[in-house]
Amino acid sequence: MSELPFGRPAGFEHLVACESPGDALWFVFRGTDLLVELGPPDPRPSDDPRVRQRPSWAKLPLLKNHNWLGSTALRTLYLGRLQGMDCWAAELAAGAAPPAPGNSWEGLRTLFSVLEDGQFALAGRALQLIDWDRTHQFCGRCGTPTEAKREERVRLCPACKLPAYPRVAPAVMGLVMRKNQVLLARSPHFPPGMFSALAGFVEPGESLEQCLAREVAEEVGVQISNIRYFTSQSWPFPHSMMIAFLCDWVSGEIKPQDGEIEEANWFDVLQLPKLPSRISIARRLIDAGCEKIRGANDV
Ligand SMILES: [Zn+2]
Repeated sequence: MSELPFGRPAGFEHLVACESPGDALWFVFRGTDLLVELGPPDPRPSDDPRVRQRPSWAKLPLLKNHNWLGSTALRTLYLGRLQGMDCWAAELAAGAAPPAPGNSWEGLRTLFSVLEDGQFALAGRALQLIDWDRTHQFCGRCGTPTEAKREERVRLCPACKLPAYPRVAPAVMGLVMRKNQVLLARSPHFPPGMFSALAGFVEPGESLEQCLAREVAEEVGVQISNIRYFTSQSWPFPHSMMIAFLCDWVSGEIKPQDGEIEEANWFDVLQLPKLPSRISIARRLIDAGCEKIRGANDV
């Protein structure tokens, strides 16, 4: 399996403070959109139902002046070095025009496999850190404005010393398998026709396996067993850690949960519906599960 997007890129050194700012790659966000220069449209079709067409290439701003955004930046964070190059993240206000000529604001999904892989991965990290910085400006316990530390990635309350580290929310995903079929479902916000594996957030006081069994029972009314770890992926929308499993059906017929699941069905591995893009762990999980079933049944 090739590397999943949003991992730590090769040659990346995580640092919190920059000693001597020089040439740098800039990850400038407006909301969840990244500032890039785009090449012409790529004639190849996109595999993502959310993305109509991808550009043939994209470039990040590469600048010497570390104060180039001036007072227009709501926040600026040093990310560290990628292949020896300093990397900065910044956020501009909603409605801000692109601050560099010829550049535009683009969603990360559009830039998958378009922006260089290491830079794309760092864009996911930058987006999460910007979101964390924005939402931890005040102490959650006493309301005092927090302060960033130079030594580590944390915002600290100067009054009561409560630290706020970047948060990661664990979520599990499971592909339920039964004979030559897999269980796939639609949530109401999916693009039309697309189905995926079941997923949900981990609650305090449960293991990943317990979370998966509970989510599957709640969302589709099915009991599972034989839960096997598949792989994991950082998912920056907004700060999840997706942990994926394969599992087997034990009992129960599908009953979609009101409000959560629009439709759920058993699909023969040879007749699958529209699936999520290869940007996500969901697609890798479904592909792997179907491959396993095909191999076992020799179909
Ligand atoms: Zn405090």
